[in-house]
Amino acid sequence: MLIGAHVAARGGLHNAVDNALAIGAEVIQTHPTPAQMWRRLRLEESDRQLYLQKYAAARLRGHYLHAVYLINLASPKPELLRSSVASLIHYLEVAAALDAEAVVFHPGSHLGAGFESVLAQVGGAIREVIECSPPGRARLLVENSAGSGGCVGRSFEEVARVVETAGSERVGVCLDTQHAFASGYELRDPEGAARTLDEIGRLIGFERLGLVHANDSARALGSNADRHANLGEGEIGTAAFRLLLHDPRLRRVPWVLEVPGHERKGPDRQQVELLRRLAGLGPRRPAPAGGGGGSAPAAAGRVPGQGPGDGPEPA
Ligand SMILES: [Zn+2]
Ligand SMILES: [Zn+2]
Repeated sequence: MLIGAHVAARGGLHNAVDNALAIGAEVIQTHPTPAQMWRRLRLEESDRQLYLQKYAAARLRGHYLHAVYLINLASPKPELLRSSVASLIHYLEVAAALDAEAVVFHPGSHLGAGFESVLAQVGGAIREVIECSPPGRARLLVENSAGSGGCVGRSFEEVARVVETAGSERVGVCLDTQHAFASGYELRDPEGAARTLDEIGRLIGFERLGLVHANDSARALGSNADRHANLGEGEIGTAAFRLLLHDPRLRRVPWVLEVPGHERKGPDRQQVELLRRLAGLGPRRPAPAGGGGGSAPAAAGRVPGQGPGDGPEPA
């Protein structure tokens, strides 16, 4: 199974590859543009080639883009809705240019209007994003929310209905463990975890699950607070993560950390190694220095992020 982390892409996307190598992540998630701004990524061809070449040399196994937090497909304001749709289309264009796996996004908040009253709008907006995006393999992943402030996706039922209303094979789901726990899904004992996973299977279907965000929770069960904690320092606890990591339904998809880290700079090597240990995996062997892999041309030699493989194949 694949274990990775959210890494910084400041100074160019190729830096995200270096940041992944520094902590032993084999899949990455990035914000290609600042998460709190409506800004398009200007991706020069030379930057793209440098990124692709470094990605292949590092033998990373997947790249997930996280959309900006300003997106609100449930907004009553036409202008905000338009900006949100345009931003997601742009992100799918970036995903196509980088050959990334998916764009993860938060659907937004109905601001108290109620889920039912925004469902058609949210589903229609997602469909529009897909229809206006370049054809490609990148999927749009709807992330479940912690449930505060009218956030859409507070339950797996809401997530399932959004996916169903969008009606596209390219729409999938990202499961954030902290958000689920904050939204009231018990994960700490075998019965609770089984009930939660069965519900995901029944309502959404695991074939739709594209990614897990592996975060412990700084707040209690059902708090509705989106507050991530380092694994082993939160309310969910490492025993629960060990249990979830050994469930075959969740082992098929990559797990990406979005924890604060021990220096509050984001996921670090310690957290990646802890997640690997909990999954029963050894430490990741480093990629050969100096670009390794026989300096394959950019974008060639890409290893699809599939299968039960543990780390990179031997050279
Ligand atoms: Zn998120
Ligand atoms: Zn998340």
